Amino acid sequence: MTSVQPGDKVLLSFSYCGECGPCTSGHPAYCVDWFPLNLLGVSRGPESGEVSGGDTVLQSHFMGQSSFAEYCIADEHSVVKVSPDADLELLAPLGCGVITGVGSIWNVLKPGPADVVAVYGVGGVGISGVWAAAQRTPAMVIAIDRVAARLELAREFGATHVIDASTEDVAARLAELTNGCGVDKSMDTTAHPAVGSQAFDSTAIGGTVLIVGVAQPGIKLPVEMNSLINGKTLTGVTLGDAQPPVLIQELIGHVGSGRFPIERMQRRYAFADIWQAERDMLDGSTVKPILVF
Ligand SMILES: [Zn+2]
Repeated sequence: MTSVQPGDKVLLSFSYCGECGPCTSGHPAYCVDWFPLNLLGVSRGPESGEVSGGDTVLQSHFMGQSSFAEYCIADEHSVVKVSPDADLELLAPLGCGVITGVGSIWNVLKPGPADVVAVYGVGGVGISGVWAAAQRTPAMVIAIDRVAARLELAREFGATHVIDASTEDVAARLAELTNGCGVDKSMDTTAHPAVGSQAFDSTAIGGTVLIVGVAQPGIKLPVEMNSLINGKTLTGVTLGDAQPPVLIQELIGHVGSGRFPIERMQRRYAFADIWQAERDMLDGSTVKPILVF
């Protein structure tokens, strides 16, 4: 390992091989070995210091690290060195949800000044997407969710309009806001086929729907085929197509300057309060729980 030394502070993100075509062309989230390195739990080999419990070898490198513990064994590509005075608790979410949301906007949807952007679901990924979109000052940034408090928070992160899907007809409101033209750039974080389908229907001719949420295997997304003839694009992305060392450092700069109010999306919990953190996340009262060991 050459990028870090003992005592360095680091943030953690996903892993990649660093040598394949996608990795060397700046797209490590599409690494040819992404699934085995991050999800499938293949063995690191006998020299790895692999984690075990009794006779059982435990899955120890989800996202190349499995950091849901006081200590972890991390792949070097999962490690991003930060400054000695960095507040790691504050910055921890950058490695996954935040780069996913920001990268989805900056790397894929790339909204221009005339575009209407809609973000479906404003949890950690969606609220990061709202912020990233607002930085590009498009015509509108519309946040859609079922939790009123999250919609209020989305305004703080730059949403110009909000739609409460628990009380409002989302398709009708989007049509009204866009004079019937539809949304130019839609980002769906919900992984719910009915939401993705509606996002596609509410997208303008020539517009794009980006699927960001991870659904259960086998889930199908129904879309109107003739809308594709209208030049609509339906696509998806892994982790915002981000290069973690690059985007995380850039975002740390925006946190430091006060431009990115990451502290407003999070609440810290002692590890003993993990179930409270889970409840607060599920009911929407906390966007991003931070567990502190
Ligand atoms: Zn690779």
